[in-house]
Amino acid sequence: MTERSLVLVKPDGVERNLVGQILARFEAKGYRLVDLRMLTPERSLLEQHYAEHQGKPFFEPLVEFMMSGPVVAAVVEGHRVIEGLRTIMGPSEPTTAPGGTIRGDLGRDWGASVQKNLVHGSDSPESAEREIGIWFG
Ligand code: UDP
Ligand code: MG
Repeated sequence: MTERSLVLVKPDGVERNLVGQILARFEAKGYRLVDLRMLTPERSLLEQHYAEHQGKPFFEPLVEFMMSGPVVAAVVEGHRVIEGLRTIMGPSEPTTAPGGTIRGDLGRDWGASVQKNLVHGSDSPESAEREIGIWFG
C-alpha cells in the first residue's frame, strides 16, 4: 500500500486564509489528497493526537490553540510522503525554519506560549496510521 500521512492546517493557517497555499505545495510536489475535512476539534481528540506531548510545558497551550478555531485535516498519499511532507513543512520553529519551507516562508513567532506554525504532518508510518484513525475514524 502507498504510504499515507495525516496533515493538519492548524487554526492559524485557516485564520490567515492559507489553506489553499499550504495544500497546493503538497499537491505541486506530486502527492495526492485522498481525504479532506474541516472541523473544530474537541479537547479529547487533541489529547489523543498529542498524547506524546502530555506533561510538557507547551501541552496545555498547544491544546488550547488547536481548539481555538477550525482546522483542515487531510490524508495525503505517495511514496515516502511522510518524509517528503516534513521536508516541505520545515522544522517546528518558524523563525529559524529555512526559506522555501511552509513554516519558513509563511510562519513567524508571535510571542505566545505555543508555536503557531501553521501545519502538522505525521512523523512516522506508525504515527500516520494512528493519527488518520483519530481524525478520520
Ligand atoms: N510546540 C511548541 N513548543 C515546543 C515544541 C512544540 O509550541 O517547544 C508545538 C508546536 O506547535 C509543534 C507542536 O507543539 O508543532 C508539536 O510538537 P512537535 O515536536 O511534534 O513538532 P512538529 O512535529 O509539529 O514539528
Ligand atoms: Mg510532531
